[in-house]
Amino acid sequence: MTEKYGTERYGTQTYGTETYEVIVIGGGAAGLSAALVLGRARRRTLVVDAGEPRNAPAAHMQGYLSRDGMPPAEFLAVGREEVASYGVELVHDQAVDVTRREDFAVELASGRTVRARRLIVATGLADELPPVPGVAERFGRDVLHCPYCHGWEVRDLPFGVILTSPMSVHQALLVTQWSKDVTLFPHTTAEADLSDEDLRRLAAAGVHVVPGEVAELVVEDDRLTGVRLADGTVHARSAVFVAPRLVPRTALLERLGAEMKETPFGMAPAVDETGRTTVPGVWAAGNATLMTQQVVHAAGDGYKAAGTINNELVMEDIEAAVRV
Ligand SMILES: Cc1cc2nc3c(=O)[nH]c(=O)nc-3n(C[C@H](O)[C@H](O)[C@H](O)COP(=O)(O)OP(=O)(O)OC[C@H]3O[C@@H](n4cnc5c(N)ncnc54)[C@H](O)[C@@H]3O)c2cc1C
Repeated sequence: MTEKYGTERYGTQTYGTETYEVIVIGGGAAGLSAALVLGRARRRTLVVDAGEPRNAPAAHMQGYLSRDGMPPAEFLAVGREEVASYGVELVHDQAVDVTRREDFAVELASGRTVRARRLIVATGLADELPPVPGVAERFGRDVLHCPYCHGWEVRDLPFGVILTSPMSVHQALLVTQWSKDVTLFPHTTAEADLSDEDLRRLAAAGVHVVPGEVAELVVEDDRLTGVRLADGTVHARSAVFVAPRLVPRTALLERLGAEMKETPFGMAPAVDETGRTTVPGVWAAGNATLMTQQVVHAAGDGYKAAGTINNELVMEDIEAAVRV
C-alpha cells in the first residue's frame, strides 16, 4: 500500500531517511494545498493519503474558481503532480497512530514509521447518511446535501428534502433558491413537532410538507423519480436533499490529546485562525476541523497552516542558532 503516487510525470525527490520536517496526513484539497506551500518553501514534506476524498461520489466539483466542473479525481491528480514537482513525497497509505515526544512519530498501516517536527492533520470527514434505502446508493448524484455543490445542476426540478437533522428545515428553505417546487418529508418527525415558526417559514417559502415515514427512494433507468412513503404513496421528485451527520476524522488528534469543541454541526477540534490545535506542533485543516468547508476553503486552510508552520520553523531554528 505504500506505492508512491502523484509522481506520474515528475520524479519524487527522496531523502534516504524516514524523518521529515512536516508530515501532512490526508491528501485532499487541504493537505495537498499545504504540501504545495511547504514544498515551495523547501521543507522536507511527506503527504500520507488513504485516497478517499469526501467528494469522490460526485462526478464534478463545482464552485472552485477556474476549476468549476472539473472531476474531483482530476483536480487531485493535478494537485499531486504539482506537489511532487517540488520534491514533496507522497505515499498512498493510512496513518494509524501518532505519538509525540520531541518530534512526532506517525505509524502507517503498511508498518512504516515516519517522523517529523510538525504535523498537519487534513483527514476530512465522514458523511453519515440517513439509513433510507436508496440514499447511500444515489448520494452525490441525485441525492444531494449541498445546493452550492449541486443546486445549479438540478435547478427547477422537483426537490424533496428528508428531515433527518435539526438543519433540515433550514435546508428546505435554502434550496427554494434553486427550485420553487420543494417538498419537505418530515419522515420520522411528527409534523406536530415542527415549531409554528418553522411551519410559517416553510409556508411562506412555498415548501409543501408531506407527513409520513420515507420507506425508500424510487429509481428508474438509473434516475431518481420519487420518494415512496411507508403507506405506499409515491411522490414524484427528481432530486432529494439530505443532511448527513458530519463526523470529522479526529482520531489521531484525539490520540495526541487535542482539545475538541462543540459546534452547531457536532464536536470538532479547537483551532486558531491558522488551524493550530491545542497540541504544540500540530495543525488541522479542511473538513477535519470545519465541516461546512468547501474545496476552496479547505485549500485556503492548508495554505494558511503551511505558511504558519514554515514561519515557525524558520524562527525556531534561528532562535536555536542564537542560543549556541
Ligand atoms: C457528494 C459531495 C459532493 C461535493 N461537491 C463539492 C463541490 O462541488 N464543490 C465543493 O467545493 N465542495 C464539494 N464537496 C465538499 C468537499 O468534498 C470538501 O470540501 C473537501 O473534500 C474537503 O477537503 P479536505 O481536504 O478537507 O478533505 P478530503 O477531500 O475528504 O480529503 C481527506 C483525505 O484524507 C484521507 N485520510 C483520512 N484519514 C486518513 C489517515 N488516517 N491517513 C491518511 N489519509 C487519511 C482521506 O482518504 C482523503 O483522501 C462535496 C462533498 C460531497 C460529500
